[in-house]
Amino acid sequence: MRNKIVAGNWKMHKTAVETKQLLNELIDKLPNDVEAQIIVAPTFVNLSLAINVLENSNIAVAAQNMHQAEAGAFTGEISASMLTNIGVQTVILGHSERRAYFHETDALLAEKVNTALKHDMNVIFCFGEELKDRQDNQHFNVVENQLRDGLFHIENNAWEKIILAYEPVWAIGTGETATPEQAQEMHEFIRETIRKHYGSDIAEDVSILYGGSVKPDNAKEIFSKPDVDGGLIGGAALKAEDFSKIVEGIR
Ligand code: PEP
Repeated sequence: MRNKIVAGNWKMHKTAVETKQLLNELIDKLPNDVEAQIIVAPTFVNLSLAINVLENSNIAVAAQNMHQAEAGAFTGEISASMLTNIGVQTVILGHSERRAYFHETDALLAEKVNTALKHDMNVIFCFGEELKDRQDNQHFNVVENQLRDGLFHIENNAWEKIILAYEPVWAIGTGETATPEQAQEMHEFIRETIRKHYGSDIAEDVSILYGGSVKPDNAKEIFSKPDVDGGLIGGAALKAEDFSKIVEGIR
């Protein structure tokens, strides 16, 4: 049985003081009778703080990125063991902003995935087509290639550590959301692609999140689709009230 998951990607937002405030608001406001795993991903410098504040809650903490190497002369970078050592067990890899602004390729992401798995971390693996790909009717090909080149080298037993996040680039931070039908169509395709490579058990068990301008007023409809197992939320994760309403939408 796959999990329902709602994850908040805070990107480069929130100071330490603001992080503490938002986390305490989330502890107060998030519904506790919803059967979904809740994850927040603050910036690196506030991960320890988040782990401490959330210690007695059921909200998990993820990093937004990490380096593929174990250690070394990589100024400004963060390793997997630095994360696990402070209690971070989950990392977002392949976010479209990392791909676009920091030139992360599928090959690099495959290395990062390997490093995360070696450290027994959960990976929220992000991928999705650009607007031009969809206009050219190439969106299924693009997504299939991203999965094949970034992820499909992993062993069957590694899939229990993987959460997929389909995030069409044209819908991220733009206010333009994929329709629930577009999301379902792509999620079904993704599950089918996994089924072809890894078989039905893995395909049925993997959680596939949708990301791209999910808001309180559209979350419920998107989450109601059979192959949408939750969401990766950007802007709306920065307000406790909005994020809580989105979590309500997973019921
Ligand atoms: C994201 O950055 O992963 C995202 C989905 O952002 P937004 O919800 O703001 O579109």
